[in-house]
Amino acid sequence: MLFDSHCHIQFKGFDEEREKVLEVCAEKNIWLHAIGTQKETSRKAVELAESNSNIFASIGIHPIHLFPTYVDEEESSFVSREENFDEEYFAELAKSDKVIAVGECGFELYHVPKDKTVEEVLKKQKEIFLAQYHFAIKHNLPLVIHVRDAHKELIAVLETLPKPIRGVVHCFSGDWEVAQKYLDFGLYLGFTGIITFPSKKTEPKIQKDLWEVVKNVPLDRFLIETDAPYLAPQKYRGKRCEPWMVEEVLKQVAIIKDLSVKEVQNIIWENSLRLFDKIKI
Ligand SMILES: [Zn+2]
Repeated sequence: MLFDSHCHIQFKGFDEEREKVLEVCAEKNIWLHAIGTQKETSRKAVELAESNSNIFASIGIHPIHLFPTYVDEEESSFVSREENFDEEYFAELAKSDKVIAVGECGFELYHVPKDKTVEEVLKKQKEIFLAQYHFAIKHNLPLVIHVRDAHKELIAVLETLPKPIRGVVHCFSGDWEVAQKYLDFGLYLGFTGIITFPSKKTEPKIQKDLWEVVKNVPLDRFLIETDAPYLAPQKYRGKRCEPWMVEEVLKQVAIIKDLSVKEVQNIIWENSLRLFDKIKI
């Protein structure tokens, strides 16, 4: 068993081939955590989870959806819609047994709308992050945290909260110093296909730092994920990322930690069930 702890299988881009992708995942014994980013994608994640035994859902609002922002990613470009955290709407979704976490929520300074100042953006992101944090506590669910170009800002907010904080910093990228902060708060780290990329000739330190984190992270405090449809692992670079490709992330962790794939697989399975304790097997 393998758990892709963060993917967006409910996104429109999978509409045509979702059945096929899910068949491959079922054959390979891969479980999926479909992560909501807005009201609509959260609802879709729950619906998919309700109709597939190997899919679970997280519900929440991604920080890029707090303002209309033009987002141009490798795989897609779109103008994000402005949304607020509608507690009533999410409480209704949280009634499902298949909802195992809240998020992705967090901080994002990579995409800042042109007509807003960084201060304005941060103020709103903090407000909506804390609303989701309190919602998660109320519903006894862990958090799925997104952070891009904003470790300092996220850490400053987390420092004010009671510890331990239940959740995962998804798609972790950063160095060991930053990683230790999150681990001290009680959080897990989620690794994506980024750990399979070769180091950039121009900036080799970034990848070296990330591999150091993979090497050092305690065995009981990390998860793996694809973030599909984004971030295909090196072997499939250029293709749309699909949840079963999480196998490549698993193999890379085993290499870096100098353990067998089987050992790492078992460790990750246990970690996934410990953090997302609403999953019943
Ligand atoms: Zn994501």
